[in-house]
Amino acid sequence: MRLTEVCDISIPVSFGGKQVSAFGGKPACRETFLDTRKGGSCNCEIYTFSPHLNGTHTEGVGHITQARISVPNVGLVEAQLVTVKPEKGLISAIKAKPAEALIIRTLPNLTTKRTRNYKDWPTFTPDAMRQIVKLGVKHLLVDLPSVDRVDDAQLTNHRIFWQKGARQKTITELVYVPTRVKDGKYLLNLQVAAFEADAAPSRPVLYKVKK
Ligand SMILES: [Zn+2]
Repeated sequence: MRLTEVCDISIPVSFGGKQVSAFGGKPACRETFLDTRKGGSCNCEIYTFSPHLNGTHTEGVGHITQARISVPNVGLVEAQLVTVKPEKGLISAIKAKPAEALIIRTLPNLTTKRTRNYKDWPTFTPDAMRQIVKLGVKHLLVDLPSVDRVDDAQLTNHRIFWQKGARQKTITELVYVPTRVKDGKYLLNLQVAAFEADAAPSRPVLYKVKK
């Protein structure tokens, strides 16, 4: 068996540069602790950001519970990539097969998704999210800042997704899947950073398996 890397679908957290943002959060920034250009023995910076607001991140059920539950580590999982076209800002049906991980790419798939300051975005109807749960999806990845609308304080779709088997399930938001990557089956390495927190930056990478 041979693995061929197809694509890194993360949007990196960029400190100080042009970057993606949502929910009106502050841009990710850094402060110098040591700098070799200023006589320091090495480079060392202090970073300020939120996993939720500044780039691709993976969150666990601890995002919506009163209990503090850290995002789980996720190994290699089988994933399915599907492309959907929201109608009037709504995603109401998903044409997908049962899969452990489901990656949803929304149209139009503009490269500006990587640096956009999101004010609003398409969202899933509760029925569409129930359909995703029925497919047995444990890890859901979307190219939107959230699976809920900006003004949904109840986080309705997050709650539907995490109704059962919640501790092992994750939602990854703000991925970017280039148009050249075709819909279909992949092996996914989610690569969640080791944070004891409800969410952590992640670098999902897609692989094709060749036997
Ligand atoms: Zn979320």
